[in-house]
Amino acid sequence: MLNIALFGPPGAGKGTQSEFLIKKYNLFYISTGDLLRKEMAGKTKLGLEAQSIIAAGGLVSDEIIVQIIEKTITDNRSSNGFLFDGFPRTYIQAYILEGLMLKLHTSLNCLISLNVPEEESVRRLMNRGITSGRSDDNEVVIRNRLREYSSKTLPVLQFYKDKGIFIELDGTAPIDQVHARISEIVRNELSKSLFNVVLFGYPGSGRGSQGKALARKYGLEYVATGPMLDDEIKKGSEIGKRINSLYENGQLVPDEIVVQLIEKKLADSKDVKGFIFKGFPRTLVQSYILDGLLKKHGSSIARIIDIEVPTLELIRRLDERSKTPGCMPYDNSTSKIVKRLHEHETKTVPVIQKYQQLHGVVRIDGMGSFEEVFDRISCAIDDALKSLR
Ligand code: AMP
Repeated sequence: MLNIALFGPPGAGKGTQSEFLIKKYNLFYISTGDLLRKEMAGKTKLGLEAQSIIAAGGLVSDEIIVQIIEKTITDNRSSNGFLFDGFPRTYIQAYILEGLMLKLHTSLNCLISLNVPEEESVRRLMNRGITSGRSDDNEVVIRNRLREYSSKTLPVLQFYKDKGIFIELDGTAPIDQVHARISEIVRNELSKSLFNVVLFGYPGSGRGSQGKALARKYGLEYVATGPMLDDEIKKGSEIGKRINSLYENGQLVPDEIVVQLIEKKLADSKDVKGFIFKGFPRTLVQSYILDGLLKKHGSSIARIIDIEVPTLELIRRLDERSKTPGCMPYDNSTSKIVKRLHEHETKTVPVIQKYQQLHGVVRIDGMGSFEEVFDRISCAIDDALKSLR
């Protein structure tokens, strides 16, 4: 997710710049001013409470702001990201935003402040007042809005300076120049964020071979827990020895080991564009682990893909594989194949359902040649990349 807050005094050009940002980057636009005007137009309880404060150019209480913003954010959690205009406007609201972002396992990428001197703000707002029809675009109220800005909103900058995500721009420059500078900042933010794909599918659906080929095509790091565990055994590492004794006793490898390996993989993978996860997360617990690990790296999942293949075809493919040198120890007998399909059904399908509700899962027809399936998945990945750029 790409989350940006546009900051600046009334009349700084936040609304104008927002229009191009939301189109170009497909962000969900949240203007607390617009949300409040909607409440007022609908004569809701919150709208009526806010009305006189807005008319006088004051700031509406943080309690009202939380109520109007929380639902909008949670209802649109699967968007590409959020663009905040006119929020946070107080120090308390900066903390509120932190909490709301955390709830969505994401964070604010940056706060862009458009600097405009007071007299220029007044001039612009008076001009806007001629056509905007906004009762708060008149000089007395404008002066009060600017006073509120200086006393309550400006201190918010310190919060973001301390976090190191504060960027200042000259808001008096021509619109297209400000626009170009903001684009540059956003491109820079995007290049910092990892592009992560999770590849689901029943054993035999082709996730492994597709995953490796996709990782090569998109320059992503392929993360498959099965081979990672085997690697540790081969290396004879401490973890490898533990895994081996668990295998020998027919026990499952505990999440705690899987987490350690993935955590190490993420930490060791410097300068990568992102990851393709295959065979992880396999359980609901592991899905929380993945969300947490990515969050720790300031990242999230960009695309979730489920390769669909009918059960009989899966069995046919796994049976074929069991007769080749590529045979895995776990698909050398019918009972083992059935057990793996059943494990996926009972443990992994609920994870896919959870992701379907949270982010949406792209279902890909896994029938046809390798290339046909590869092209279908590539289209789904290209779409996700496009909506990010
Ligand atoms: P705007 O459209 O952003 O200029 O907002 C218009 C008016 O709505 C402001 O002058 C405030 O009275 C109120 N308002 C908008 N956003 C907030 C906020 N985040 N906190 C408090 N009051 C707000």
